[in-house]
Amino acid sequence: MPYLTPPEELGDLLGEQPRYRADQLRAWLYQTPVLDAAEMKNLPNHIRQRISTSLWPFKLELELKGDADSTRKWLLRCHDGAPIETVLMGYPKRTTLCVSSQAGCAMGCTFCATGQFGFVRHLEAGEIVSQVAYANASLRAYPIDNSPKQVTHVVFMGMGEPLANYKRVHESLRRLIEVMGMSARSITISTVGFVPGIYRLASSPWKVNLAVSLHSSDDESRSAIVPLNNRWDINSVIEASRHYFEVKGRRVSIEWVLIDGTNDSPSQARKLAAIASRMAAHVNVIALNPTPLSSDRPPPTRVVWNFVNTLRDEGITATVRDTRGRNIDAACGQLRVRTLNRTN
Ligand code: SAH
Ligand code: SF4
Repeated sequence: MPYLTPPEELGDLLGEQPRYRADQLRAWLYQTPVLDAAEMKNLPNHIRQRISTSLWPFKLELELKGDADSTRKWLLRCHDGAPIETVLMGYPKRTTLCVSSQAGCAMGCTFCATGQFGFVRHLEAGEIVSQVAYANASLRAYPIDNSPKQVTHVVFMGMGEPLANYKRVHESLRRLIEVMGMSARSITISTVGFVPGIYRLASSPWKVNLAVSLHSSDDESRSAIVPLNNRWDINSVIEASRHYFEVKGRRVSIEWVLIDGTNDSPSQARKLAAIASRMAAHVNVIALNPTPLSSDRPPPTRVVWNFVNTLRDEGITATVRDTRGRNIDAACGQLRVRTLNRTN
């Protein structure tokens, strides 16, 4: 499977072929990806045929489109049955891809559909990068009106905790940046606070953006919704994030999923503001996307804006993240829940 082979070793995959064939194949995989190997025009037929059934390391199980085809959500199925969810979102000046780094997640956050389902396995670097290549191939074949014709931004906000799969995520960053040519500044790793991973990422060669999913400003209530807080508390997450900012010179962002009656009070907002200034971070607020296995609900819109305005009054830059794809279950892990419901 070409995407599961390191890009530098593609020659081995082709056997007795001149070296330039590997270069040609690498260009098809990483520079101008195509949905079907038959389109790799400069490769001889027998090579195209050999690759055709194994080009993608997954099968497209379900595609949902929303927002007038500017949001595409894919449920991809790896050869061993592990699920991958990927969401493509087109905007006027950017095309953002939300990728998965693990099939499932072991972190067990109570409000998250992926967390509710548990861990299946780590994704390989090639399984992560091929989500981006697949999106680029999809965009070439079926462009989104008025949006860039290739992925301009990648966010690790699909299934999984990327920093709990550090080695493979690191290799996927290397391939995205050094082989595909993406800018590190257009890539965001989102973590629930896997502290040793934050330090490892700080020592990586690339200035990728870091987003920290905080969701609560005191340890007791955070531990109730984010079990990993029992291992690395808020203070250690703040210190690691601050370190990241100092080493990389990139502002960290705090992600905060607002849950009705749980973390949406003005006092939580004020404590969050104090944390955000210690971290030199800005805050992204998103109203909860309800999941079938939890009774948690998003707060009313008025409460969302009160929360944001309290942060702004305290001098913090805060934005409300748009809920793109809500009509197609595009929140973390939700598509898988939907297909499970359908097939069970
Ligand atoms: N594991 C990483 C990255 C994947 S989750 C992390 O937790 O940061 C990506 C983002 O989706 C996180 O900020 C997470 O809090 C958010 N999220 C999870 N479930 C959600 C839901 N039901 N509604 C809205 N956002 C959710
Ligand atoms: Fe895992 Fe992130 Fe979901 Fe928590 S929010 S269970 S860390 S994917």
